[in-house]
Amino acid sequence: MLEAPKVFEYLDSISYRLPIEEVPIDRACGRIMPGHAHSRIASPPFDKAAMDGYAVRAADRRSRYHVVATISAGDHPTGSLQDGECAAIMTGAMLPLGADKVIRREYTRREGDEVEITEPEPLENVIKAGENCRAGDPVLGPRVLRPQDIGVLASVGIAELEVARRSHAGIISTGSELRAPGDELGPGQIYNSNGYQITAQLQSYGCTTTNHGIVADDRDRLAEVVEIALRESDLVILSGGVSMGDFDFVPGVLSRCGVEIGFHRIAFKPGKPTLFGRKGDAFVFGLAGNPVSTFVLCEVLVRRLLLHISGVSGEPPAVRATLSEEVYRKSSDRLEFLPAVIENGMVRPLSYQGSAHINALSEANCLFALDAGVERLSKGMVLDVRPI
Ligand code: AMP
Ligand code: MG
Repeated sequence: MLEAPKVFEYLDSISYRLPIEEVPIDRACGRIMPGHAHSRIASPPFDKAAMDGYAVRAADRRSRYHVVATISAGDHPTGSLQDGECAAIMTGAMLPLGADKVIRREYTRREGDEVEITEPEPLENVIKAGENCRAGDPVLGPRVLRPQDIGVLASVGIAELEVARRSHAGIISTGSELRAPGDELGPGQIYNSNGYQITAQLQSYGCTTTNHGIVADDRDRLAEVVEIALRESDLVILSGGVSMGDFDFVPGVLSRCGVEIGFHRIAFKPGKPTLFGRKGDAFVFGLAGNPVSTFVLCEVLVRRLLLHISGVSGEPPAVRATLSEEVYRKSSDRLEFLPAVIENGMVRPLSYQGSAHINALSEANCLFALDAGVERLSKGMVLDVRPI
């Protein structure tokens, strides 16, 4: 059984990286950017008004000014302000030469070409050229791109950028007891939930997917589907059939298909029978069949590997929260992940009876971990939790 830190180390030490491709920014949301994006401009590129009002020379303090121009956003003012002069200016417009302050319109009264200052303006109300960033500054580091990141990229003039090629995942659900949702269940049968859940998880990570459906516990049939999935996928995710049962054929079949097993059985709870292997540039996970286990391991290991081979390595983002109740466990030999609800800064573990209880998961919005060796977390402790 591989200790949990070694499992992460193993995945993080893989040197393979997905090829890079260029995409326009309106196709980049959800894509994984392995490098840094650098600003093409100083932002803002010119001194600009932060308010509607009157641009003046700050040193030229007086109670009345003569209005010599009106400058709106997008104008290029060419004249320069002299003492006693001001320019009516709109938010976002470029300051005229000489001006370094904007008196907000609410503090003025206009009469023809004269403006009277009715209240002193304490602020400059100017956004200085280069205040947000200078040309060439890094604006974003490696990440999965979100809508707000796309906005930042556009604001600094980036039209296209380098992202990791989208990876393709093939999902195989093993088990002779499984039927597809929509079919009638016979005695002893259950619906295949893992196949759909894993497919949805991989899609939410930005992968394209093929759900290869259900494969009964039959070595030859399994080998056929594994061969197909290996040929067309970067990631092959199997569920079920990796434990010690008489019909747990996954490890043997993978070896027969030329998959080199990296690890099998890990000190995780849930997920002890988890298997990881590789054939060429295709990576294979065999996840235990229990749906909670499958969900957690996909989130914790498959996602980590996907990000890693896409060029974004290391610990996933966490948020801090206070534990709402004591958590106690008798056996602490494994790293354990618990589904939980985080609300108003408090994290509440969800009761789930062992790894088959899938319903708790749909209430969960985060996972938190108990490290191996930790038996108890006390109420009020501050924890790092992982949003899901
Ligand atoms: P296994 O890992 O094959 O021994 O399966 C462990 C448990 O998970 C058994 O109760 C299986 O019936 C259940 N299981 C396996 N595969 C799936 C699946 N695709 N969807 C839902 N439950 C499953
Ligand atoms: Mg099975």
